[in-house]
Amino acid sequence: MSVSTTDISIRKVEKSRISEIDPAEIHFGINYSDHMLIAYYENGAWQKPEIMPFHNLSFSPATTFFHYGQAIFEGVKAYKDPQGNPIIFRPYDNWKRMNRSAERMAMPDVPEEIFVEGMRALVDLDRDWVPVGAESSLYIRPFMLAVDEFIGVRPAEKFMFIIITSPAGPYYNHPVSIYVQDKYVRAFPGGIGFTKAAGNYGMSMYPTMQIKKMGYDQILWTDGFEHKFVQEIGTMNVFFVIGDKVLTPDITQDTILEGVTRDSVITLLREKGITVEERPINIDEIEEAHKNGQLKEAFGTGTAASIAPIYALTYHDDKMVLPPLDQWEISNWLKKELADIRYGRKEDTHNWIVRL
Ligand SMILES: *Cc1c(COP(=O)(O)O)cnc(C)c1O
Repeated sequence: MSVSTTDISIRKVEKSRISEIDPAEIHFGINYSDHMLIAYYENGAWQKPEIMPFHNLSFSPATTFFHYGQAIFEGVKAYKDPQGNPIIFRPYDNWKRMNRSAERMAMPDVPEEIFVEGMRALVDLDRDWVPVGAESSLYIRPFMLAVDEFIGVRPAEKFMFIIITSPAGPYYNHPVSIYVQDKYVRAFPGGIGFTKAAGNYGMSMYPTMQIKKMGYDQILWTDGFEHKFVQEIGTMNVFFVIGDKVLTPDITQDTILEGVTRDSVITLLREKGITVEERPINIDEIEEAHKNGQLKEAFGTGTAASIAPIYALTYHDDKMVLPPLDQWEISNWLKKELADIRYGRKEDTHNWIVRL
């Protein structure tokens, strides 16, 4: 199917809600922009996408996704460059990843014309909703739901693809305290850890609630066989700076979500001549490095937080506290470098940025 931006039908709001928003008071995930995009998939084909006023949806209680979790999503951000023009960061990578999730969840491929061109048209129409200001952005949430009105168990035949957007103010990156999870499991080989499936988030709520009660912020997930090999922190990819090398788990076992931020970080580090090893990382190796004073930095990466510094890691009775943040050369450099590219302050030599 080929849809050009002009094939997307647009029904505008009569009056924008933007004036009701206080730019000093934007809270992620609470305010939504004026418009949303919806595309239906039925009889084996995507129908023409429509952009329309943001509104509530109504479904039969028998609809597939309520019961069987055939639901996937993505997270993308748009930023304003110094001239005030919105730019979207690496949406093609999110598009490809959504289709990897879709395949695993027996859902149809979303065409580029709907995912990327639909997103561009939507952000263009709501461009006033992309906040200006340091660390502010428009969070873009594409998602797909199975919507058969049938309560029997079978892969669905009807789907809805939706995009909504939410202005986000500065993300407060206080260093997080991490608990190394040795009981619950997020992902295992052959599972769906590499997808952005709703169920991956649903299953993480209970273990996260437990460690929060114990005073930690996030979980460092480990493998399901030995609880030794680290996977991700919370819903972010994880990096460790040991000596002069940067380590991150490899994605070969389908247990790691292939983050766009992860890939950006690896690319930038390698270009700067820093060694990045993508390989299995045993928690014993981290402990050993900490004992020897070689564990210099540790951080999570994701679209929402960008680079999230880790203040301490607790494994059994061992609380490994990291050096003070102002000594973290690599993550402090990365954070600035990434922001300069995302906000269009620096030349985009990787073709990461998409203008409207
Ligand atoms: C979304 C997500 C990430 C981060 O991916 P980005 O593309 O960098 O935002 C990492 N881990 C999990 C489990 C995720 O769902």
